This record gives sequence, structure tokens and C-alpha cells, in this order.
Amino acid sequence: MGRSSKDKRDIYYRLAKEEGWRARSAFKLLQINEEFNIFKDVSKAVDLCAAPGSWSQVLSRKLRHSEADKSKVKIVAVDLQAMAPLPGVIQLQGDITKESTAKEIISQFEGEQADLVVCDGAPDVTGLHDIDEYIQAQLLLAALNITTHMLKPGGTFVAKIFRGKDVTLLYSQLKIFFPNVTVAKPRSSRNSSIEAFVVCQGYAPPVGYKPNMSNPLLDQHYDVDFNSLEGPNRVIVPFLACGDLSAYDSDKTYPLELEPGAGYAYHPPTQSPIDPPYKTACYLKKNDLLSKPETAGSGKDRPAGTGST
Ligand code: SAM
Repeated sequence: MGRSSKDKRDIYYRLAKEEGWRARSAFKLLQINEEFNIFKDVSKAVDLCAAPGSWSQVLSRKLRHSEADKSKVKIVAVDLQAMAPLPGVIQLQGDITKESTAKEIISQFEGEQADLVVCDGAPDVTGLHDIDEYIQAQLLLAALNITTHMLKPGGTFVAKIFRGKDVTLLYSQLKIFFPNVTVAKPRSSRNSSIEAFVVCQGYAPPVGYKPNMSNPLLDQHYDVDFNSLEGPNRVIVPFLACGDLSAYDSDKTYPLELEPGAGYAYHPPTQSPIDPPYKTACYLKKNDLLSKPETAGSGKDRPAGTGST
């Protein structure tokens, strides 16, 4: 793929580079904020599954306006992968489904509480929808569990969700902790994707609830088909498309010159991942070192026993 072909295909990828965001996902959080005003009065925030860091960038830019803000704002970002540093963001590397990582995040808060927790976590998609949805749900529950340790009453939790067939169970679990749960679909999230975001507001855990890392309220082993429940027994949450309607459509292909005569300039990515797991695969592909399937006749003149394995 040429340097500009991705720019032509994906308008938010291109805008992200022009505006200096590390990933196009930045627009999803910005558009969620346009609708829900989630940054209002926030000084302490956690970004779970943060790499390469565009949501942390949004938090840093939105929360740290003045010198005074800079001293009282605390942003903690965590991911499995290493992330290049960002001003005012404490970075941790770890797995959010592990208790040790949760403890590390919690210790950063030194007993203080967060106003906002966001999680854009996504597993490496396998293409097997049931498995992908299940892992995504587990990530969301891990994020919610960590959140119950540090979110202040009334606080907000925003997380990526896959609107798969068991999503009703997740809504029910979220509703245990938040009176207001809305599913938001930002304009920058492709319609063709089952991805959406839950915006959970007004954190209010059940009376007497004590956060713990193996939270029975979040145990998924219910013997109930949640989709078959009806009436007040079935949790249905509102759905809201967000982002300015005049905003770019993420499913559309745009020409390189957006307005006639406006010209086009290629911008390199703002920050490439610093140690991505696919680094070796890219190296092998670039240098034509990937093993190839044997084609008919390809081993014809090769001495016996020297074929590729
Ligand atoms: N919000 C990020 C941004 O704007 O740059 C993009 C996040 S990316 C879509 C999903 C991230 O989830 C990946 O960086 C991945 O490493 C992380 N992730 C997946 N499973 C995780 C886990 N169990 N613990 C921590 N991070 C995880």
C-alpha cells in the first residue's frame, strides 16, 4: 500500500495525522465528549488499554489547560504494550485482567478517587465472532472491576463494547453500578463494525458493596438466556449516534484533495507503536523472508532432503 492510499481510504486516519493524534480513535473520544460532556470538572482520569495513546493525548490536552490544572490533574494510562511518553501521563505496562496490574493502577491513586475511567481495550481479533465478543466482554468486565476500586461516586466510565448477541448481560452488569448507561456510536466508528461505546454515568455501587478483584457481581456464569427475558426483567439501554452530523463519514472513501483546489500534503504517522508484537512479521514480509508454499515444480532441481519445512 502506498504512502497516500490509506489517507485516501480512511479520512479519520488522515485527519489524525494532520492534527497530531497517535491514532484515529482520538476522534471517537472527542465525539463522545461532544455529546456527553464527559471531561467537565474532571481532574483525575484513567485510560485503560491506552496504547498507542491517542485517548491519553485527548485527556492530556483536554484536562491540562493551565499551569494550575497541570499540578492537580492526574492521568494514569495502562496497556499490555509499551507506549511512548506523553506529557502529564503516568504510564504503566500490564494486563488489565491481572490483579497485579489493577493493584498497580490503584496504588497510583494513593487513596484518591478518579472522576473518569475510559477503556478502549480490544483483543487481537480472531475473526471468530463468538470468541472475539467473549474476550471483549471479559476485557470490559476487568475494566469495570478495576473502576469500582477507584471511581468516585457520581463518576463516569466509558468503554468499548461489541454489540454482540450477549450484550444484554453486560448492560445488566453495568446497570448494577451506574443508573445511566447509554450506548454511543461516534461518527468516526465505522457503521460496518459492531464496535460501540458504553457511556456509564453517575457511579453508584450497591449499598454495602466492597470492591474486590474477584467480583461475584461480574461473574458471567449465569444460567439464564438474557435475551429471552422480557418487560422490566430485560435491560435495554438507549442508543445514541454521536458526533456532528456534518462530520466525515468513516465508511466513506474521500479523495486526497478534500475541497477542489485545497491541495494535499502527506503527513507521516504522529507516533508509530514503539514495540509492536507484529514487528518481526513486518520485517520478514518487507525483506521477502516469509516462508512460501511450494508451487508445482519448485523443488524439482533441489537435492533430496533440502526442501523447505
Ligand atoms: N485508545 C487507544 C488509542 O487511542 O491510542 C487505542 C487502543 S487499541 C484499540 C486497544 C489496546 O488494547 C491495544 O493497545 C492492546 O494492547 C490493549 N489491550 C488489549 N488487551 C489488553 C489487556 N488485557 N490489558 C491491557 N491492555 C490490553
